[in-house]
Amino acid sequence: MGKKKVFFLDPDERKWTMEDLGLSWETIGQSVHEKEIEGIFLAYQGRIHKGSELSNLCMVCLESLAYNDEHDSVFCPTCDEWREPSCADPDCEYCLARPNRPSQCN
Ligand SMILES: [Zn+2]
Ligand SMILES: [Zn+2]
Repeated sequence: MGKKKVFFLDPDERKWTMEDLGLSWETIGQSVHEKEIEGIFLAYQGRIHKGSELSNLCMVCLESLAYNDEHDSVFCPTCDEWREPSCADPDCEYCLARPNRPSQCN
């Protein structure tokens, strides 16, 4: 599965911002994500994964994701990377304590 690249062209005289349109980068990210998942069937290692199952797979290495209870976050043990961004709360105890790499957890 190829990675999707989205380019936003910036006009010389920009007269609006995302906020003016009632949009945020977050909502755009979500809609792109949903389109990718929708109706996708992936054959990998002799198995067919339904689109709905793709959310349980690492987007990079296609291995199964794992869940870290302590930091309340999904991660890929193979890539050793978190697969959920930190939440928006700057004081969140789960995200604050989260190490850069899942393998650095106790
Ligand atoms: Zn991975
Ligand atoms: Zn958090």
